[in-house]
Amino acid sequence: MTEQASSPTPLLRPEACANGRMVALADGIDVEIEPDPGSGASQWFHFAVEAPAGTRVRIVNADASTYPSGWPSSLVWWRSAARKWRALRPRFEDAMVQWNHPEPGGATSYALFPPYPAHRLAALARRVAGRPGAAAIAADPARGGAPRLVLGDGSPSARQIWIVCGQHGNEHPALWFAEGFVEGLLARPVLPDGVRFHVVPLANPTGWAAGHLRANAAGQDPNRLWDRPGTCREVGTLVDAMTGGGIDLLLDVHTDFEMGCVYLDVLDAWMATPSPLVAVRERFERGLSTASTDLAYGRRYPWQTAPRPELLAGMCAPAIERRFGVAALTLELPIGLYRNARGDEDVWSPQRSEALGRAAAAVLMADR
Ligand SMILES: [Zn+2]
Repeated sequence: MTEQASSPTPLLRPEACANGRMVALADGIDVEIEPDPGSGASQWFHFAVEAPAGTRVRIVNADASTYPSGWPSSLVWWRSAARKWRALRPRFEDAMVQWNHPEPGGATSYALFPPYPAHRLAALARRVAGRPGAAAIAADPARGGAPRLVLGDGSPSARQIWIVCGQHGNEHPALWFAEGFVEGLLARPVLPDGVRFHVVPLANPTGWAAGHLRANAAGQDPNRLWDRPGTCREVGTLVDAMTGGGIDLLLDVHTDFEMGCVYLDVLDAWMATPSPLVAVRERFERGLSTASTDLAYGRRYPWQTAPRPELLAGMCAPAIERRFGVAALTLELPIGLYRNARGDEDVWSPQRSEALGRAAAAVLMADR
């Protein structure tokens, strides 16, 4: 081994959402995930390498990530040149995620999930903006920069339904869900009267661009600051817009790295949620579990003890329920291998996220 070969070398950097730091080049390529500023959260990786076929690639600090129990069911998505993303099953050995470079020559990108690209969001916004009565409210980078897509009945009496995705910028299953949701609305020549949708596909664009798992560029986790919107630009922008334009229902979409299924994170017991709001959630969950083979009604995160009061105060859905007195739901999507509603194992993909988003749009359009 030469002196040059053993010294840390930069990886090839993908255009956005990159996360990965080369730490050694010995008999393979060793990479570390870079933790978020602030909380130190880590799980997301996205980097590119150029190496001979068969070269071993390892994520050497996988065991120090935020959700280490998620690795055995994780997949590594890869693509080279202009080819589509494909999934490979890595090994989780010696507390490291490991696989072999599958392609001869050329640069190959790797990621925990196919990254939702900026050009797709821009194209989606253009299509929404082209619809009569709809609007793509442009990002204001000085205020957190989250674009908002607004479609449906513009009368003041319409129900205002908010879909917030990507607060945790590199929870990409949620970003693909947002596109599917908007596609579901765009597929209708006419949207139902009495309902207006506000879809925020990427609520944390600075964290997305920086390759953070959860934090914005300033190192804040937006989903801990909904009780203090003045302290976090991403949250403040949305609370101001909800206050100004109204809100009757919120769906906040995330990714769970360990549970391996689609589920609603329900906190009613600790929130003392009023029964009319519980009924709204039950109607949505029944509808979505009927419309999709991926959601089993009643699957839950196994909270053993009450969430800490500061967690209930700062998380989006509980905070919105308290602030506005409306039903606020948290939908969690899987990543890697997952169990569908029947309990069969399958691979969660962008297509599954989009299909669930379309199903959710249909359910909420039909909800009266
Ligand atoms: Zn999240």
